[in-house]
Amino acid sequence: MKTLKIAIQKSGRLNEKSVEILKNCGLSFENYKSSLISTVTNFPLEILFLRDDDIPEYVQDGIADLGIVGENVIVEAGAEVTYLQKLGFGKCTLKIAIPNESQITEIAQLGGTAIATSYPVILEKYLKDNDVIAEVRTISGSVEIGPGLGLSDAICDIVSTGGTLKSNGLKPFSEVMKSEAILIGKEGSNLLPEVQELLQRIRSVLRAKETKYVVLNVAKTNLKKVVDLLPGVKSPTVVPLFDEEWVAVHSVIAEHDFWEKINSLKAAGAEGIVVMPIEKIIA
Ligand code: ATP
Ligand code: ZN
Repeated sequence: MKTLKIAIQKSGRLNEKSVEILKNCGLSFENYKSSLISTVTNFPLEILFLRDDDIPEYVQDGIADLGIVGENVIVEAGAEVTYLQKLGFGKCTLKIAIPNESQITEIAQLGGTAIATSYPVILEKYLKDNDVIAEVRTISGSVEIGPGLGLSDAICDIVSTGGTLKSNGLKPFSEVMKSEAILIGKEGSNLLPEVQELLQRIRSVLRAKETKYVVLNVAKTNLKKVVDLLPGVKSPTVVPLFDEEWVAVHSVIAEHDFWEKINSLKAAGAEGIVVMPIEKIIA
Protein backbone atom coordinates (compact mmCIF):
# COMPACT_ATOMS: atom_id res chain seq x y z
CA MET A 1 0.00 0.00 0.00
CA LYS A 2 1.29 3.48 -0.86
CA THR A 3 1.97 5.82 2.04
CA LEU A 4 0.23 9.10 1.27
CA LYS A 5 1.46 12.47 2.39
CA ILE A 6 -0.89 15.25 3.42
CA ALA A 7 0.40 18.79 3.98
CA ILE A 8 -1.30 20.94 6.62
CA GLN A 9 -0.45 24.28 8.21
CA LYS A 10 2.16 23.96 10.97
CA SER A 11 0.79 26.78 13.09
CA GLY A 12 -1.76 29.48 12.48
CA ARG A 13 -5.44 29.80 11.86
CA LEU A 14 -5.91 26.52 9.97
CA ASN A 15 -3.72 24.23 12.06
CA GLU A 16 -6.13 23.28 14.83
CA LYS A 17 -9.14 22.55 12.60
CA SER A 18 -6.98 20.62 10.11
CA VAL A 19 -5.66 18.38 12.90
CA GLU A 20 -9.18 18.03 14.29
CA ILE A 21 -10.73 16.87 11.03
CA LEU A 22 -7.99 14.26 10.53
CA LYS A 23 -8.43 13.00 14.11
CA ASN A 24 -12.21 12.84 13.58
CA CYS A 25 -11.52 10.60 10.58
CA GLY A 26 -10.18 8.10 13.10
CA LEU A 27 -6.52 8.76 12.28
CA SER A 28 -4.08 8.25 15.14
CA PHE A 29 -0.97 10.43 15.19
CA GLU A 30 1.22 12.49 17.46
CA ASN A 31 0.83 16.22 17.06
CA TYR A 32 4.04 17.62 18.52
CA LYS A 33 4.45 21.32 17.86
CA SER A 34 8.16 20.76 17.19
CA SER A 35 7.91 18.06 14.50
CA LEU A 36 7.67 18.71 10.78
CA ILE A 37 6.33 15.29 9.97
CA SER A 38 4.12 12.85 11.83
CA THR A 39 3.28 9.26 10.92
CA VAL A 40 -0.28 8.03 11.23
CA THR A 41 -0.21 4.66 12.98
CA ASN A 42 -3.50 3.23 11.67
CA PHE A 43 -3.60 4.47 8.06
CA PRO A 44 -0.90 4.67 5.37
CA LEU A 45 -0.45 8.41 5.79
CA GLU A 46 2.23 10.90 6.80
CA ILE A 47 1.35 14.42 7.85
CA LEU A 48 3.67 17.23 6.80
CA PHE A 49 3.44 20.42 8.85
CA LEU A 50 4.29 23.41 6.64
CA ARG A 51 3.77 27.14 6.21
CA ASP A 52 0.44 27.53 4.43
CA ASP A 53 2.05 29.44 1.53
CA ASP A 54 4.11 26.36 0.58
CA ILE A 55 1.22 23.89 0.53
CA PRO A 56 -0.23 24.56 -2.97
CA GLU A 57 3.15 24.05 -4.69
CA TYR A 58 3.94 20.93 -2.68
CA VAL A 59 0.70 19.37 -3.89
CA GLN A 60 1.07 20.67 -7.45
CA ASP A 61 4.57 19.16 -7.65
CA GLY A 62 3.47 15.86 -6.11
CA ILE A 63 5.71 16.17 -3.02
CA ALA A 64 2.51 15.87 -1.00
CA ASP A 65 -0.49 13.92 -2.36
CA LEU A 66 -2.98 16.06 -0.49
CA GLY A 67 -3.09 19.41 1.25
CA ILE A 68 -5.39 21.50 3.41
CA VAL A 69 -5.11 25.23 2.69
CA GLY A 70 -7.18 28.39 2.22
CA GLU A 71 -8.53 28.98 -1.28
CA ASN A 72 -7.01 32.50 -1.16
CA VAL A 73 -3.53 30.98 -0.86
CA ILE A 74 -4.16 28.50 -3.69
CA VAL A 75 -5.40 31.17 -6.09
CA GLU A 76 -2.64 33.62 -5.14
CA ALA A 77 0.00 30.93 -5.74
CA GLY A 78 -1.54 30.17 -9.15
CA ALA A 79 -1.12 26.50 -8.31
CA GLU A 80 -2.67 23.91 -10.57
CA VAL A 81 -4.34 21.54 -8.16
CA THR A 82 -7.69 19.76 -7.89
CA TYR A 83 -10.23 20.86 -5.30
CA LEU A 84 -11.34 17.62 -3.65
CA GLN A 85 -13.51 19.00 -0.86
CA LYS A 86 -14.43 22.31 0.73
CA LEU A 87 -13.95 21.89 4.47
CA GLY A 88 -16.22 24.57 5.97
CA PHE A 89 -13.61 26.22 8.24
CA GLY A 90 -11.09 29.06 7.82
CA LYS A 91 -13.83 31.15 6.23
CA CYS A 92 -12.82 34.71 5.39
CA THR A 93 -13.34 37.41 2.78
CA LEU A 94 -10.77 39.36 0.81
CA LYS A 95 -11.99 42.93 0.51
CA ILE A 96 -10.89 46.27 -0.81
CA ALA A 97 -11.09 48.91 1.93
CA ILE A 98 -10.78 52.67 1.67
CA PRO A 99 -10.23 55.48 4.20
CA ASN A 100 -13.42 56.60 6.00
CA GLU A 101 -13.22 60.03 4.39
CA SER A 102 -12.69 58.67 0.85
CA GLN A 103 -15.09 59.94 -1.82
CA ILE A 104 -14.88 56.70 -3.81
CA THR A 105 -18.31 55.11 -4.29
CA GLU A 106 -17.88 53.06 -7.47
CA ILE A 107 -15.33 50.48 -8.52
CA ALA A 108 -14.43 52.53 -11.61
CA GLN A 109 -13.18 55.31 -9.30
CA LEU A 110 -10.37 53.01 -8.17
CA GLY A 111 -8.75 53.80 -11.54
CA GLY A 112 -5.44 55.62 -11.03
CA THR A 113 -5.25 54.84 -7.30
CA ALA A 114 -2.56 52.85 -5.50
CA ILE A 115 -3.81 49.77 -3.63
CA ALA A 116 -1.66 47.98 -1.04
CA THR A 117 -2.08 44.21 -0.68
CA SER A 118 -0.40 40.90 0.12
CA TYR A 119 -2.54 39.34 -2.63
CA PRO A 120 -1.27 40.96 -5.85
CA VAL A 121 -2.33 38.11 -8.15
CA ILE A 122 -5.92 38.02 -6.90
CA LEU A 123 -6.18 41.81 -6.85
CA GLU A 124 -4.75 42.23 -10.39
CA LYS A 125 -7.31 39.76 -11.71
CA TYR A 126 -10.16 41.49 -9.90
CA LEU A 127 -9.12 44.90 -11.28
CA LYS A 128 -8.79 43.47 -14.78
CA ASP A 129 -12.23 41.82 -14.57
CA ASN A 130 -13.64 45.21 -13.60
CA ASP A 131 -11.71 47.12 -16.30
CA VAL A 132 -9.87 49.18 -13.69
CA ILE A 133 -6.26 50.23 -14.13
CA ALA A 134 -4.73 50.88 -10.71
CA GLU A 135 -1.31 50.50 -9.17
CA VAL A 136 -0.95 47.36 -7.08
CA ARG A 137 1.61 47.77 -4.27
CA THR A 138 2.65 44.46 -2.80
CA ILE A 139 3.50 44.47 0.90
CA SER A 140 3.81 41.36 2.97
CA GLY A 141 2.14 42.36 6.23
CA SER A 142 0.23 45.11 8.06
CA VAL A 143 -1.36 46.20 4.81
CA GLU A 144 -3.98 48.21 6.71
CA ILE A 145 -1.46 50.90 7.72
CA GLY A 146 -0.79 51.73 4.03
CA PRO A 147 -3.27 54.63 3.63
CA GLY A 148 -2.31 56.13 7.02
CA LEU A 149 1.34 56.22 5.94
CA GLY A 150 0.47 57.71 2.58
CA LEU A 151 1.68 54.51 0.93
CA SER A 152 -1.60 53.77 -0.80
CA ASP A 153 -5.12 55.11 -1.38
CA ALA A 154 -6.80 51.81 -0.59
CA ILE A 155 -5.98 48.31 0.58
CA CYS A 156 -7.00 44.79 -0.37
CA ASP A 157 -6.83 42.38 2.54
CA ILE A 158 -8.59 39.61 4.45
CA VAL A 159 -11.37 41.05 6.57
CA SER A 160 -13.23 39.06 9.19
CA THR A 161 -14.80 41.28 11.86
CA GLY A 162 -13.68 44.59 10.40
CA GLY A 163 -12.09 45.60 13.73
CA THR A 164 -8.62 46.08 12.22
CA LEU A 165 -10.05 48.26 9.46
CA LYS A 166 -11.93 50.41 11.94
CA SER A 167 -8.93 51.01 14.17
CA ASN A 168 -7.00 52.17 11.10
CA GLY A 169 -9.72 54.58 9.91
CA LEU A 170 -10.75 52.36 7.00
CA LYS A 171 -14.12 51.08 5.77
CA PRO A 172 -14.87 48.06 3.57
CA PHE A 173 -15.60 49.00 -0.02
CA SER A 174 -15.95 45.91 -2.21
CA GLU A 175 -15.66 42.14 -1.95
CA VAL A 176 -12.87 40.55 -4.00
CA MET A 177 -13.20 36.88 -3.04
CA LYS A 178 -14.58 34.57 -0.39
CA SER A 179 -12.36 31.80 0.89
CA GLU A 180 -12.40 28.73 3.10
CA ALA A 181 -10.10 25.79 3.76
CA ILE A 182 -10.05 23.24 0.95
CA LEU A 183 -8.70 19.72 0.65
CA ILE A 184 -6.62 19.70 -2.52
CA GLY A 185 -4.97 16.95 -4.55
CA LYS A 186 -2.72 16.67 -7.56
CA GLU A 187 -4.31 17.74 -10.80
CA GLY A 188 -5.21 15.29 -13.50
CA SER A 189 -4.40 12.06 -11.71
CA ASN A 190 -6.88 9.31 -10.86
CA LEU A 191 -7.66 9.16 -7.18
CA LEU A 192 -5.68 6.43 -5.44
CA PRO A 193 -7.83 4.02 -3.41
CA GLU A 194 -6.23 5.37 -0.20
CA VAL A 195 -7.21 8.92 -1.21
CA GLN A 196 -10.75 7.79 -1.94
CA GLU A 197 -10.96 6.13 1.47
CA LEU A 198 -9.74 9.27 3.24
CA LEU A 199 -12.07 11.48 1.19
CA GLN A 200 -15.03 9.28 2.12
CA ARG A 201 -14.11 9.56 5.80
CA ILE A 202 -13.75 13.34 5.60
CA ARG A 203 -17.13 13.65 3.87
CA SER A 204 -18.83 11.54 6.53
CA VAL A 205 -17.34 13.75 9.26
CA LEU A 206 -18.53 16.89 7.44
CA ARG A 207 -22.03 15.46 6.94
CA ALA A 208 -22.24 14.58 10.62
CA LYS A 209 -21.24 18.14 11.56
CA GLU A 210 -24.15 19.51 9.56
CA THR A 211 -26.70 17.42 11.44
CA LYS A 212 -27.89 16.68 14.96
CA TYR A 213 -29.49 13.57 16.39
CA VAL A 214 -32.87 14.30 17.94
CA VAL A 215 -35.00 12.17 20.26
CA LEU A 216 -38.42 13.41 21.32
CA ASN A 217 -41.67 12.18 22.82
CA VAL A 218 -45.04 12.77 21.20
CA ALA A 219 -48.62 11.67 21.77
CA LYS A 220 -49.74 9.26 19.02
CA THR A 221 -52.46 11.71 18.04
CA ASN A 222 -49.75 14.23 17.06
CA LEU A 223 -47.31 11.71 15.55
CA LYS A 224 -48.15 12.38 11.91
CA LYS A 225 -47.68 16.15 12.34
CA VAL A 226 -44.28 15.64 13.99
CA VAL A 227 -43.04 12.99 11.53
CA ASP A 228 -43.93 15.25 8.60
CA LEU A 229 -41.39 17.74 9.95
CA LEU A 230 -38.57 15.18 10.18
CA PRO A 231 -36.72 13.82 7.16
CA GLY A 232 -34.36 11.38 8.95
CA VAL A 233 -31.71 9.54 6.93
CA LYS A 234 -34.44 7.29 5.48
CA SER A 235 -37.40 8.10 7.71
CA PRO A 236 -37.67 8.69 11.46
CA THR A 237 -37.56 5.75 13.87
CA VAL A 238 -40.69 5.48 16.04
CA VAL A 239 -40.36 3.57 19.33
CA PRO A 240 -43.27 2.60 21.64
CA LEU A 241 -43.31 4.01 25.18
CA PHE A 242 -44.66 2.48 28.38
CA ASP A 243 -47.59 4.89 28.15
CA GLU A 244 -49.33 3.41 25.10
CA GLU A 245 -50.73 6.76 24.06
CA TRP A 246 -47.18 8.05 23.48
CA VAL A 247 -44.15 7.18 21.32
CA ALA A 248 -40.51 8.31 21.08
CA VAL A 249 -39.24 9.54 17.71
CA HIS A 250 -35.54 9.39 16.72
CA SER A 251 -34.31 11.41 13.77
CA VAL A 252 -31.57 13.66 12.40
CA ILE A 253 -32.08 17.32 11.60
CA ALA A 254 -29.96 19.85 9.75
CA GLU A 255 -27.91 22.33 11.75
CA HIS A 256 -28.75 25.26 9.47
CA ASP A 257 -32.48 25.41 10.31
CA PHE A 258 -32.09 23.85 13.75
CA TRP A 259 -34.00 26.34 15.94
CA GLU A 260 -36.74 26.85 13.42
CA LYS A 261 -37.24 23.08 13.29
CA ILE A 262 -37.18 22.66 17.07
CA ASN A 263 -39.81 25.39 17.45
CA SER A 264 -42.11 23.84 14.85
CA LEU A 265 -41.66 20.40 16.47
CA LYS A 266 -42.72 21.87 19.84
CA ALA A 267 -45.71 23.55 18.22
CA ALA A 268 -46.68 20.19 16.67
CA GLY A 269 -46.76 18.54 20.10
CA ALA A 270 -43.18 17.25 20.63
CA GLU A 271 -42.04 17.11 24.26
CA GLY A 272 -38.83 16.20 26.12
CA ILE A 273 -36.68 16.97 23.08
CA VAL A 274 -33.08 15.71 23.45
CA VAL A 275 -30.46 16.81 20.92
CA MET A 276 -27.11 15.04 20.50
CA PRO A 277 -24.08 15.59 18.29
CA ILE A 278 -23.39 12.99 15.61
CA GLU A 279 -19.85 11.74 15.14
CA LYS A 280 -20.09 10.26 11.65
CA ILE A 281 -22.70 9.52 9.00
CA ILE A 282 -21.63 6.77 6.63
CA ALA A 283 -23.43 7.21 3.33
P1 ATP B 1 1.89 30.75 7.87
O1 ATP B 1 2.82 30.93 9.01
O2 ATP B 1 1.46 29.31 7.74
O3 ATP B 1 2.36 31.36 6.59
P2 ATP B 1 -0.10 32.89 7.85
O4 ATP B 1 0.26 33.92 8.85
O5 ATP B 1 0.16 33.12 6.40
O6 ATP B 1 0.53 31.49 8.32
P3 ATP B 1 -2.78 32.63 9.02
O7 ATP B 1 -2.95 34.00 9.56
O8 ATP B 1 -2.57 31.51 9.98
O9 ATP B 1 -1.65 32.57 7.89
O10 ATP B 1 -4.04 32.33 8.11
C1 ATP B 1 -4.15 31.15 7.39
C2 ATP B 1 -5.40 31.18 6.54
O11 ATP B 1 -6.54 31.29 7.37
C3 ATP B 1 -5.53 32.37 5.61
O12 ATP B 1 -4.78 32.20 4.43
C4 ATP B 1 -7.03 32.36 5.33
O13 ATP B 1 -7.32 31.39 4.32
C5 ATP B 1 -7.62 31.86 6.63
N1 ATP B 1 -8.27 32.88 7.47
C6 ATP B 1 -9.48 32.75 8.07
N2 ATP B 1 -9.82 33.84 8.75
C7 ATP B 1 -8.83 34.72 8.63
C8 ATP B 1 -8.58 36.03 9.14
N3 ATP B 1 -9.44 36.67 9.91
N4 ATP B 1 -7.40 36.62 8.80
C9 ATP B 1 -6.49 35.98 8.06
N5 ATP B 1 -6.68 34.72 7.56
C10 ATP B 1 -7.83 34.10 7.82
ZN1 ZN C 1 1.25 32.20 5.16
